[in-house]
Amino acid sequence: MTLVGIELGGTKCIVVRGDVGNIAERVVFATLTPEQTLRAALDQVALWHAEAPVEAIGIASFGPVRVNREAADYGTVLKTPKPGWSGAQVLAMVQERFDCPVAVDTDVNAAALAEHALGAGRGCANLVYLTIGTGLGGGVLVEGRPVHGSLHPEIGHVRLRRAEGDVFAGVCPFHGDCIEGLIAGPALIARLPVIPGELGPHAPEWTAVGHDLAELLAQLVLTLSPERIIIGGGVANRQPHLLARARKILPDLLAGYLDPSDAAYFEELICPPTLGDDAGPMGALVLAAQAGAGNQRQA
Ligand code: ZN
Repeated sequence: MTLVGIELGGTKCIVVRGDVGNIAERVVFATLTPEQTLRAALDQVALWHAEAPVEAIGIASFGPVRVNREAADYGTVLKTPKPGWSGAQVLAMVQERFDCPVAVDTDVNAAALAEHALGAGRGCANLVYLTIGTGLGGGVLVEGRPVHGSLHPEIGHVRLRRAEGDVFAGVCPFHGDCIEGLIAGPALIARLPVIPGELGPHAPEWTAVGHDLAELLAQLVLTLSPERIIIGGGVANRQPHLLARARKILPDLLAGYLDPSDAAYFEELICPPTLGDDAGPMGALVLAAQAGAGNQRQA
């Protein structure tokens, strides 16, 4: 089966051809205006389509984006600070050029689907995929399906109990000290005395950051009861000690819930992704496969 996945990111757009679990070819474009970006991506898809018919396309997009398939504006980017992208009709632009099935979901829901199908979330139908990089986002699977609801989860913007004595105001332009405003890349640059890469893993400045991540994990455990929380993204990849710190603090924050004596449980619960940066494009291919299968059922 020839599937195409498009990961639409804030700075780059990754277009892949392949099948579930197999990226055969990949092309990367800069994310410019919606028209420029999608024209470049879809010109590439057209070249591939001329070689072998593309059966379905999956799009893993930055948010906020309408993911409810029944909505009139399904596949449209909603109000975003990213210049030119508010109201961009991504799905419609793809369907204008290709009449195969197309599915759109968030980049983090797609990554959650990929880790569930192929990576660290295998066997866990209820999981959370977090990415901590220039922003903080979270995709949620319940019984193997991405949670959409009235929009989609916006885990990055929850506000949590702060570490005692921590007075950092946070950098989120909307909320100040939401979790994205506390521990994503720009927050670390603002709150640490040197750039994060120059601060050793044992520096005391990491204590409050680890606490903040643990508070987020505690809320996710208590509200969603996930079987796994997979944490990727540039910050998490480069600072693996943060996962270890948060995992260690988490039982204390849960204060007796979920049997904190069971170290193996927490070791399994909190883990890095196994697909790395490919979780997004791999997830876009999973979306494509699901779109293609849905079309066959209708036929
Ligand atoms: Zn926020």
